[in-house]
Amino acid sequence: MTINAAGWRPEAPQADGGEPGTWTGNKALMLEEPLIFEIGDAATTGVDFEMPSSPEVEGGNFLAGLERNRAIGLPGLTEPEAVRHYTRLSRQNYAIDLGLFPLGSCTMKHNPRLNEKVARMPGFADIHPLQPIDTVQGALELIARLGEWLVKLTGMHSVAMSPKAGAHGELCGLLAIRAALEARGDAREVILVPESAHGTNPATAAFAGYRVENIPANARGRVDLAALQARLGPDVAAVMITNPNTCGLFEPDMVAISRAVHDAGALVYCDGANFNAIVGRVRPGDLGIDAMHINLHKTFSTPHGGGGPGSGPVVFSEALTPFAPLPFVEKQGGHFVLVEEETAGDHHARSFGRMVAFHGQMGMFTRALAYILSHGADGLRQVSSDAVLNANYVLRQLDDVLDAPFGDSGPCMHEALFSDKGFAGGLTTLDLAKGLIDEGFHPMTMYFPLVVHGAMLVEPTETESKAALDQFIGALRNVAERAKAGDPALKAAPIHAPRRRLDETLAARKPVLVWTEPPSAEAAE
Ligand SMILES: *Cc1c(COP(=O)(O)O)cnc(C)c1O
Repeated sequence: MTINAAGWRPEAPQADGGEPGTWTGNKALMLEEPLIFEIGDAATTGVDFEMPSSPEVEGGNFLAGLERNRAIGLPGLTEPEAVRHYTRLSRQNYAIDLGLFPLGSCTMKHNPRLNEKVARMPGFADIHPLQPIDTVQGALELIARLGEWLVKLTGMHSVAMSPKAGAHGELCGLLAIRAALEARGDAREVILVPESAHGTNPATAAFAGYRVENIPANARGRVDLAALQARLGPDVAAVMITNPNTCGLFEPDMVAISRAVHDAGALVYCDGANFNAIVGRVRPGDLGIDAMHINLHKTFSTPHGGGGPGSGPVVFSEALTPFAPLPFVEKQGGHFVLVEEETAGDHHARSFGRMVAFHGQMGMFTRALAYILSHGADGLRQVSSDAVLNANYVLRQLDDVLDAPFGDSGPCMHEALFSDKGFAGGLTTLDLAKGLIDEGFHPMTMYFPLVVHGAMLVEPTETESKAALDQFIGALRNVAERAKAGDPALKAAPIHAPRRRLDETLAARKPVLVWTEPPSAEAAE
C-alpha cells in the first residue's frame, strides 16, 4: 500500500462509482499505523548531541576514522512519534493484561506485579555475570533458595538452574542421560516419545542425536503401556513423557511406566511444562522420574510469549545428579560460590559440561521465587487445584456443544480438549478460532495434540474469575454453534480485527521481510 507523507492512504473505490478518496485508516479510537519506514525519515532524530570540541577531533575525525561513510537508511522519529508508533502497534496486539488467553499448554496466566517490582530491584536487575562473587552474594543466595524450592516441590535430588527455556531443559536432561549411559559403557540410540508429545520433545531427541520412535496413545488418551513395554529393549536410551499429558490428562500408569523403563536399563525424562496442574500435590520424584524441566515462565508466572525470555531449570534424580551441568551455586562456609569446571572436585567430575556461558536467567529466577514465597506451599497447592477446577468448568460447560474426545474418561487436569466433530458446511477449527477473534478473544491452541482431529486445547489457568470464564464460555459457545450450523460467514472471520484473514501459507512460503521504498514516494517529491 502506498501512503503519503501525512499518513493518508487510498480508500476503496466508492460503491456509487465516484472517485476513490483517501482516509486515515483509523476506526474510531482503533488507530491504524504505517510501518516505521513509512513515517520516519533518515534526517530526523529524537536526540540532540553537541559536537565534541576536543582538539584531537579536528577535521571532523570524531571516531578516529571509524565513522560510517554512508547513511544506513534507518528511519528517524522524534520521541513523541516513536512513543506513539509503538503504543499504537501494541494496541493491535492481544495480551494477558487485556483478557483471558486460552492457549492450551502455554499457561498464559496473570503475572503478579509484585514479581515485576522485585525483578526490577537494582541488586538483581543491574548486576553483571562477570562481577566478583563477593559482590553478588544476594543474587546467588536467591538462585540457591529457588533451587531448594524446586527440588523440594518435585521430590527430586538436585537441580540445574542454567537452561534457558523448556526446550533447552529437555536438551539438558537428554545430555545428562546420555552421559550416564556412556559412563556405564552403554550407548543407546533410541528415544521413545508418545504420540501426544509437544513438538519440542522429538525435536530435542533428534537434535541430541537420537532416533525418535512414537508410542501410541490408548483410547483414553494415555500412553499405551503394553505398546511401550513391547518396544523397550537394549537400544532404548530413554522415554520422554509429559505428565499431565498434552491431552490435559494425568498418566495414571506413570509408576508402572518408570519401573518398566528402568528394568530395561533406560531412563525416564518428564516434560514438566504442565507442572502447574500438579504442583503441591504430586512430586515427580515419587513417580520414578530421572530428569524433568520446569518452565518457570509458565508454572511460576513470568510474562512470556512473543519471544520474551523464559527459564527451564532441570531437576534430577540421585542417579543422574553426578552428570548434571555446571555451573551451580553452592554454599561453602557461609559463602555462596559458583561451582565451575575449574573448581568442581571429583564429585562433579562426571558433569556433561555446560549449557550456557553464565548461570541462567536472573530476571526469571527473581520472579519465580517472589511468586513461590508469596504463595507459600499451601498457596501453590491452591494454584494447581484452581487451575484444574477452572479447566473442568470449561469442559463441562461446553461438552454439550463441542465434542470432548476424552470427556467420558473422567475429569481433566488443567486444560480442556475438544475436537471439530460435528462442524458443518466445511467449517474447520481454524474458522472457529478466527470467529473467536471477532468475539474479542485470542484463539485457543489449535490442531495440537495431534492425536485428536481438529484439536482445540483450552487452558484457562487459575487466575481467571468465574465471571471471566462465563464470558469466554459464552463467546466460544456462540462460535461453536455457528460452526455446527455451517454458518458460511464464519469462513470470512475475523471481520472486526485490524487485519482480516491472512494467507498463512503464503506468509510461511514467501515471507516479505524487507521493506523497499515504493518508487512513487520519490517521484512525488
Ligand atoms: C511450552 C512447552 C514446551 C517448551 O517450553 P519452552 O519454554 O517454550 O521452550 C515443551 N513441552 C510442553 C508440553 C510445553 O507446553
